[in-house]
Amino acid sequence: MGKIVAVANQKGGVGKTTTAVNLGACLAHHGQKVLLVDGDPQGNATSGVGIEKADVDACVYNVVVEDMDTKQVICPTAVENLSIIPATIQLAGAEIELVSTISREVRLKRALETVKDQYDYIIIDCPPSLGLLTLNALTAADSVLIPVQCEYYALEGLSQLLNTVRLVQKHLNHHLRIEGVLLTMLDARTNLGLQVTAEVKKYFQERVYQTIIPRNVRLSEAPSHGAPVILYDAKSRGAAVYMELAKEVIYNGERIR
Ligand code: ADP
Ligand code: MG
Repeated sequence: MGKIVAVANQKGGVGKTTTAVNLGACLAHHGQKVLLVDGDPQGNATSGVGIEKADVDACVYNVVVEDMDTKQVICPTAVENLSIIPATIQLAGAEIELVSTISREVRLKRALETVKDQYDYIIIDCPPSLGLLTLNALTAADSVLIPVQCEYYALEGLSQLLNTVRLVQKHLNHHLRIEGVLLTMLDARTNLGLQVTAEVKKYFQERVYQTIIPRNVRLSEAPSHGAPVILYDAKSRGAAVYMELAKEVIYNGERIR
């Protein structure tokens, strides 16, 4: 049975999409069957795996709002073992249209239940808000992976996210746990990066991944080539660290089981 991991943080630009795409691709490279779900109307994960948004006929929107069969919207990618449910800007409408829909928070959960047993991991890339799309992702998920950018105010806003996680645990999904906290975009040359790392570790302790994602130009270039970094530049530091993270995620999963 697949494990569903939501990559969430309501702050934009902290590395959610980069993590969802590259962790997904690296888990696939380690032989895991992976489904990426693009939960953000901006569709950056979709284009990040090389899918032209203009060519997408059906996306997460059709599944969540219109009850389309999930299998019909799954697309293969250039990475073996990695598939995606794409998103287009149409998904922006879901945030509003779902408000008046019955069981509006569990729509994605139900949609993924029908395909869950075909994957080892289902990774959901969340939008930068705590709206209905993120609530759907947290309700569907077994765990939440929280990327935290190594910047000033790194911890700001996290209490709001953790509060949302607690509310979801209480009312919508008792099983939801914290998969891990991932430090991203570390610039090891600065004291700031190291201070933030220490601060986040003090707060989240053993929940922080040992793998820390440094700033790496290859990671920021790869999306414009429509490829995860392991395809764009397999020898880069960016590829190596996301491979490490994938190993850590698999290892943690086995340890808990
Ligand atoms: P989010 O999905 O949280 O908004 P993104 O993953 O899109 O964040 O990252 C924001 C920007 O930072 C993107 O342009 C991305 O390419 C870049 N980026 C993300 N992680 C790194 C990294 N480790 N090194 C360099 N650039 C990065
Ligand atoms: Mg994003």
